[in-house]
Amino acid sequence: MLKAFAIHLHSHLSRIRSKMTDSCIFCKIVSNETGAEIVHRDEQVTAFRDIHSVAPTHILIVPNRHIESVGVLASEDEQLMGHLFTVARRLAEKEGISKGGYRLITNTGANGGQTVFHLHLHLIGGQRMRYPMG
Ligand code: AMP
Repeated sequence: MLKAFAIHLHSHLSRIRSKMTDSCIFCKIVSNETGAEIVHRDEQVTAFRDIHSVAPTHILIVPNRHIESVGVLASEDEQLMGHLFTVARRLAEKEGISKGGYRLITNTGANGGQTVFHLHLHLIGGQRMRYPMG
């Protein structure tokens, strides 16, 4: 019970801190303060091409609201996360990479390789992906 409350409190405080978005490059792309090649935009998410593309298709899909990472997700974010994946699926179809398959990655925290601390889904495809990961 106490542990559950501590986890809830930690998540809540992280979310308050995460609203400090002044220096977040993805918040600036969402608000059009910084340019990017936007491929999709709706009320909940924005998708744009990665500047350092690693494959013929490399798109980042981000929630419009600043969420630092998967590590601070709360239960009320579940619909938003479902939408993020649905947009990824639609974009894969639009890019013509659905049939061949593609990779979706969400790096989380320093050990996960996250470098931009605004949650994002990498949609990567158009070539055969390499293994092993990690
Ligand atoms: P990650 O390392 O998982 O946090 O991914 C961050 C990704 O953001 C990297 O693949 C970067 O190339 C990409 N990125 C950083 N800045 C920009 C930007 N201004 N426009 C588009 N992609 C960016």
